[in-house]
Amino acid sequence: MNAHQSSWMTEDHVMYRDGVRKFLETEFLPQREHWVEQGYPEKEYWKKAGEMGLLCPDLPVEYGGGGGDFGFDVITYEELMRLCISSFGNGIQSIVAHYILRYGTEEQKLRWLPGMATGEFITSIAMTEPGTGSDLQSIKTSAARDGDEYVLTGSKTFITNGYNANLICVVCKTDPSEGAKGVSLLMCEVDDLNGFSRNKPLKKIGMKGQDTCELFFDECRIPVGNVLGGEEGQGFYQLMAQLPRERLIIAVSAIAAVEAVLEQTIEYTKERKAFNKPLMSFQNTKFKLAEMATEAKISRVFVDHCIEQLMVGNLDNETASMAKWWCSEKQFDTAHQCLQLHGGYGYMMEYPVAHYFTDSRVQMIYGGSNEIMKELISRSL
Ligand SMILES: Cc1cc2nc3c(=O)[nH]c(=O)nc-3n(C[C@H](O)[C@H](O)[C@H](O)COP(=O)(O)OP(=O)(O)OC[C@H]3O[C@@H](n4cnc5c(N)ncnc54)[C@H](O)[C@@H]3O)c2cc1C
Repeated sequence: MNAHQSSWMTEDHVMYRDGVRKFLETEFLPQREHWVEQGYPEKEYWKKAGEMGLLCPDLPVEYGGGGGDFGFDVITYEELMRLCISSFGNGIQSIVAHYILRYGTEEQKLRWLPGMATGEFITSIAMTEPGTGSDLQSIKTSAARDGDEYVLTGSKTFITNGYNANLICVVCKTDPSEGAKGVSLLMCEVDDLNGFSRNKPLKKIGMKGQDTCELFFDECRIPVGNVLGGEEGQGFYQLMAQLPRERLIIAVSAIAAVEAVLEQTIEYTKERKAFNKPLMSFQNTKFKLAEMATEAKISRVFVDHCIEQLMVGNLDNETASMAKWWCSEKQFDTAHQCLQLHGGYGYMMEYPVAHYFTDSRVQMIYGGSNEIMKELISRSL
């Protein structure tokens, strides 16, 4: 396949991509299997990524960012997927950074954003609870005001970066008698926070190196100044307004994975022989690859369109939801078919295709499940 050059890419993006690629190949790729076995990347790699400018490339310079656009962020997701590295939760870091940038008070921005850009702060966003995921308004974690502090109590599960995180954006109820209106985002610095605990990373069927944890808050005292934006009851609306960006990040990594697994499978089927012929010479192989390449291109054009729309502030919720469900399903479907074309080797974890397959499954579940995406799209019809 011809190398893809997205319509939104400038010369600066091309140069940046070269740097990111070299950095990831040198620093991250040798750790890939180790992270998968261990269940998380070491904190020092966050600092290395920070030094390279990978963590907040699209944040303003005055807050420690790179001053670029969303395209710079996209490049890192694409390059990580190209190398089949799913252990690094920089997408969450970027999402939390944008919450703070958009809603934080000036004091909050200066307190947290520069450290997030250097990797000093590793962040999580903690919405999901053992009893509720899709139905966010039903969360039970509560923050009761007591003088200048909130008393935070509750438990969260499936939290990405949960093992490494030292700054956690906790979605909680500051007014449990209300639904959406009672939700606030409380920024919790958890190093040395009394009452906070977490379990070891959960064992998953894919994305095994990305730390996903349960978090427990037992009467943790959080200063009132840590409510994002300084005002209670805004959390649900703050979350909703950032959803297009979050969903597009999932779509971006999905299409990048599709392109990568396809490229590797094309190579494999040209080399591997059966009945004295390359696998590629069988009509079934050719047709499957032709179909997948076509669908990859269609998805890519759509995602590039969404990236451009986001860059000019025009990406709406339903289009982002379309991109999320469509690309994540294509990712799963493509990885599944590519694995089949690898035969028994595709089932072996030493072949990246096996990781592309197992990693792909969760993309249809988190970030709002694909059923929820369709629900949202249907509301706009
Ligand atoms: C690896 C991983 C990482 C994650 N990272 C994070 C994170 O960093 N932070 C965080 O807060 N959460 C995270 N999550 C949680 C994730 O967002 C939730 O799992 C997801 O939102 C679904 O919620 P649930 O698991 O409670 O499923 P449920 O809400 O119980 O849903 C179960 C099924 O019912 C369907 N369903 C639910 N409601 C409807 C409806 N109205 N119409 C039709 N179908 C419906 C769902 O689509 C799903 O198929 C992560 C999950 C995983 C697996």
